[in-house]
Amino acid sequence: MRTIGLIGGMSWESSAEYYRILNEVTRSRLGGHHCAPSLLLTVDFAEIEAMQRAGAWDRAGTHLAAKAATLERAGAELVLLCTNTMHRVADAITGVLDVPFVHIVDATAERVLRHGHRRVGLLATRYTMEEDFYRDRMLSHGIDVIVPDEPDRTLVHDVIYRELTRGRVEETSRQAYRRVIDRLAARGAEAVILGCTEITLLIGRRDSPLPVFDSTRIHVERAVDLALA
Ligand code: GLU
Repeated sequence: MRTIGLIGGMSWESSAEYYRILNEVTRSRLGGHHCAPSLLLTVDFAEIEAMQRAGAWDRAGTHLAAKAATLERAGAELVLLCTNTMHRVADAITGVLDVPFVHIVDATAERVLRHGHRRVGLLATRYTMEEDFYRDRMLSHGIDVIVPDEPDRTLVHDVIYRELTRGRVEETSRQAYRRVIDRLAARGAEAVILGCTEITLLIGRRDSPLPVFDSTRIHVERAVDLALA
């Protein structure tokens, strides 16, 4: 199995999920005491979050590209960026890597298409919901993305930054997300993408009236497929 490099810390609450799921999936594929050879490099989310707020995407890209190069030098044979939002700077990262970069949007799109959906709702940070990088990449796969209207976008974003990335999982927020999903369904969404890697902590299959595509688990499963290929 090839060594998987993870750029984590955005936030570490989701990186811990990546690490757990990565090893669970590997054990279920290989059995026994098998786990995944991996390298987890954690950045300080406070620095990244400040760059997001300042719109300093180029600086963030340079920062994360340096981390990706560090992982490759340390022996990573494929690299994952454990956040949807920072895929906004994916090109900066792929530009410095010789090993494969496992793109979270491509992995999610493949899974959505495999289930026959073409029109999906998206729950994510404001950056992912409002800027073009996510929607355009989905569109390149033939998938239409429906984002919540306001004030739902603010609610979804605030729950991520005020609660989930700080380790708080609140039942009232779960109910609020469920109502947002209801409204996406009423606008024609056939399924919903959990397009932020912490939302898996809040919403599971049973919490959603629509089929759920969890970007965290899908990303990890894609990485394990590649690492074992
Ligand atoms: N982990 C989140 C995501 O998947 C949000 C935190 C971040 O801004 O990186 O988008």
